Amino acid sequence: MTSQTETSPTETRAFEADVARLLHLMVHSVYSSPDVFLRELISNAADACEKLRQMALTDASLTGGDTLAIEITPDKDAARLIIADNGVGMTREELIENLGTMARSGTEKFRKALEEKDSAEAESGKALIGQFGVGFYSAFMVASEVTVTSRAAGGGEAWRWTSDGSGEFTVAPAEDAPARGTSVELTLREDHKDYADEATIERLVRHHSAHVPVPIKIRTTGEDGAETRELVDGTALWAKPKSEITAEEYTDFYRFTAGAFDEPALTVHARVEGRQEYTCLLFVPSMQPFDLFDPDRKGRLKLYVRRVFITDDADLVPPYLRFVRGLVDSEDLPLNLSREMLQTNPMLTQMKSALTRRLLTEMKKLADTEPETYAKVWDAFGAVMKEGLYEDAERRDELFALARFRTTTQPDGGRKLADYVADMKENQTAIYYAVGDSFDRLTASPHLEGFKARGIEVLLLADPVDAFWVRTALGFDGKPFKSVTQGSADLDQIPLTDQRHVPDEAKASDIATLSALIKQTLGERVSEVKTSTRLATSPACLVASDMGYDRQLEKIVGRQGQGLGAKPILELNPSHPLIKTLSARAATGGAADVVGDTAWLLFGAAQIMDGESPTDSAEFTDKLVTAMAALVRSPAPTDHADSISTEGSEGGESDAG
Ligand code: ADP
Ligand code: MG
Repeated sequence: MTSQTETSPTETRAFEADVARLLHLMVHSVYSSPDVFLRELISNAADACEKLRQMALTDASLTGGDTLAIEITPDKDAARLIIADNGVGMTREELIENLGTMARSGTEKFRKALEEKDSAEAESGKALIGQFGVGFYSAFMVASEVTVTSRAAGGGEAWRWTSDGSGEFTVAPAEDAPARGTSVELTLREDHKDYADEATIERLVRHHSAHVPVPIKIRTTGEDGAETRELVDGTALWAKPKSEITAEEYTDFYRFTAGAFDEPALTVHARVEGRQEYTCLLFVPSMQPFDLFDPDRKGRLKLYVRRVFITDDADLVPPYLRFVRGLVDSEDLPLNLSREMLQTNPMLTQMKSALTRRLLTEMKKLADTEPETYAKVWDAFGAVMKEGLYEDAERRDELFALARFRTTTQPDGGRKLADYVADMKENQTAIYYAVGDSFDRLTASPHLEGFKARGIEVLLLADPVDAFWVRTALGFDGKPFKSVTQGSADLDQIPLTDQRHVPDEAKASDIATLSALIKQTLGERVSEVKTSTRLATSPACLVASDMGYDRQLEKIVGRQGQGLGAKPILELNPSHPLIKTLSARAATGGAADVVGDTAWLLFGAAQIMDGESPTDSAEFTDKLVTAMAALVRSPAPTDHADSISTEGSEGGESDAG
């Protein structure tokens, strides 16, 4: 009736497809404790108050001078729970946009993560809710109907959004609405009526939301009518002295600001005085958030100016520390920081560098005093911190001191570079590494054999980022990084420790003849065929030339469209029985065709060990089948073996065509 629009003021709409699916999951997931919904709704209400407080900096009339607060009303008889705030509020369009669509790109990933979890793991799914900006929908875990009544700051009409979470929502004008803000009313499901209990709400608020920087009150109806009690006073936790804050309070606050459920591995709370004055309360989480590898690589630290929230969009730490959560509250920055100022303000730049230094120092301390806790941090965020090794040359040494590695002698990880260098073998001049896309493949790599036989430790690098820093870093402690697949590995200078591998080698001249024959067969596929020192048990492997890039690196870089396409070198193990027999035969000048076929098989097998496919799969398979047939045939030829051989060559021909 009061609506100015011609059409019916009540409108029913379908949720966006993604939201509908997410809601279905939320409602049907088997969370043993859906408590999380309350924290999410309180956090939205607090955000709305902080947003309004910030807007009021330029237009004081918006708050009308009232205290911003959150009020929770449990109604046990009606099985209803209301969470109301006098924050920024929403217009009709905002209600539709914010509560009917997926606002953030991460949500699709979130939904997948939830879908992939079986019921046993579903509990950990709740850890994701806050991180992905889907907190509001968690209300449907406990409510059969949710009604959101809102009036945006600055006046205007109030609107009511209602949904039972099954696929549609309705928006209509609201007759009875407060002057400003939002109230979220939940009609609780039969099995979740507990949430209308005053004691339950009080316990949950004190437990999960005790340090929300906006006061939280509870409104109850007793014998003397309605009364309101304050549960949380809304003072900023970070403004209190450290000595007055317990570890639990820090953890609760971390969970509130980060939308996380884990324990922080490291808490840094400091008041900085000097050229500028600010307080930082920073947390290093112990678990990876799901958007850690998002291409925008943005940090999430919040910037406050004199207790007023300003933005979570300021670059307060470099991208390689983007996993750090928490806030910085400045005493000196202007309250009206514009977008451009966020990028160019020299005070912010100085702050960023000071925060970076502080975080790295504190992490070093943690690594020294609590190595087990630090190991968790490195497991979760090492791959991100390594980005700093090539992005932040100035702090490379500090980052090297924090880096931990899996190596051939310490495959479970935790190896420091300094310890690697201290344990280097006599005559060893480089820090050796192997890069690849999985640890299993790396540990099985034939390239490591000669190193193992000499007791030389090799770093096993399986993070994509490794391909970048090993190329740019100048080395550590004066020792260059060198790939095990690159160039002549200089292993001759270092004695064998494993006597089983003392070589009983093929004659040098014989192996030279064999190498020439193989090169002739493989032609342009390889740049060279030569004797290897790096092999112990495998007959052959592929390596890059001394000048060229590591082969695995090339593959990783090649994926990004800048591969260099250099041809590999095929190295032969002179002490392997197969190579010895072959080179003896090659020397007599006979059996050129046997050498030819074996050359293809050796080449293909070396490619497979590098995680590639043989260049010509049909030809490789054909020769393999022929070899198998010979194997089956050799003790006592049978008809059966012949038929395998025939099938093999037919298969090969048709594939090649
Ligand atoms: P997030 O809080 O991470 O953005 P939510 O699903 O919790 O995601 O909320 C979605 C959006 O709905 C919020 O970003 C905000 O714009 C809006 N919203 C939710 N609750 C309120 C509220 N109490 N007051 C104003 N806006 C709100
Ligand atoms: Mg939220």
